[in-house]
Amino acid sequence: MTKIFNFCAGPAMLPTAVMAKAQDEFINWNNTGSSVMELSHRSGIYMKMAAQAEADLRHLMTIPDNYKVLFCHGGGRGQFSAVPLNLLPQGQSADYIVNGSWSKAAASEAKNFGDINVINIRQEHDGGEVSLTSVDEWPLNPNAAYVHYCPNETVDGIEINDIPDTKGVPLVADMSSTILSHQIDVTQFGLIYAGAQKNIGPSGLTIVIVREDLLGEGKGNAQQATPCIMNYKTSADNDSMYNTPPTYAWYLAGLVFKWLKDLGGVKAIEKINQAKAKLLYQTIDDSNFYNNNIELQYRSKMNIPFWLQDESLNEQFLAQAEQQGLMALKGHRIVGGMRASLYNAMPIEGVQALVEFMQKFEQENK
Ligand SMILES: *Cc1c(COP(=O)(O)O)cnc(C)c1O
Repeated sequence: MTKIFNFCAGPAMLPTAVMAKAQDEFINWNNTGSSVMELSHRSGIYMKMAAQAEADLRHLMTIPDNYKVLFCHGGGRGQFSAVPLNLLPQGQSADYIVNGSWSKAAASEAKNFGDINVINIRQEHDGGEVSLTSVDEWPLNPNAAYVHYCPNETVDGIEINDIPDTKGVPLVADMSSTILSHQIDVTQFGLIYAGAQKNIGPSGLTIVIVREDLLGEGKGNAQQATPCIMNYKTSADNDSMYNTPPTYAWYLAGLVFKWLKDLGGVKAIEKINQAKAKLLYQTIDDSNFYNNNIELQYRSKMNIPFWLQDESLNEQFLAQAEQQGLMALKGHRIVGGMRASLYNAMPIEGVQALVEFMQKFEQENK
């Protein structure tokens, strides 16, 4: 069988070593005679595993003690509701930076729960180049309850590397497609959230990292109508086990954290991720056959869209790529073209195989 490389944007490929380990202990985990998914989340052995996964994530991201780490349901989109429900009191407004399709969707959902100030920072220049307003020029409201932004736009292939200085207003980041891909300073954020299915594990799990003081005292700061399963304070007070957490996804995320730690942590994977992205962008930029229109400094290292000059070759490109074991390269329907997602689990060999195929395809079709 040809070696398969899966470039899907999400759910995305997981490290082969992690999948093999999960397979190995699938029906008999830790000599319990049961699968981990058959055990009570309140059993000692499960709780120990769950706590270890949290400890490993804290270690990987250097998360300080005054931040809670929550293991939630509901995906990235669930957080589009949970964030305003928990952090936006009546009578205040929140700033939403929009630079692509996910940040736009987050703003639109948040409007159901309060006063939202949408700030569009995306610019399209003549010739089709896409650029952004730089972080120090964002027109932020100093009295906002929080600022929400998406540092890596998965669909558009746009990444914001600079962390905005919000002058004390809590910064909320949707890191669904970039968490753990490079080092960040968690203390600059009030809240970070990420659906698991891109860089952490299987779908069904969402990680929330939130500064304790934002949750409030006693029953907390959340709006009255907040469903209990979306209430951060309730989750934090119950170690993410107020209701049954996504137990299997939590376990698998734990294996991924361990895999990443063994590999040298976020610092090590960041280097590999840079090399992967450089290789693919170089190939695109060296040719007149392929094209990427994002201004250099805003190009995503995780999700790389590219377009064939001659779009009538798209179907042929995808079909031949699949024959080579290069899967799921079709771009998102909103932007068309191709997209290669190079999350942590994608080895550099996958990108090498992709660029070799692209060069050969160009030779044969230009
Ligand atoms: C995938 C994605 C989401 C949506 O996640 P779901 O788990 O499908 O709700 C939200 N934000 C970003 C940046 C994403 O990449």
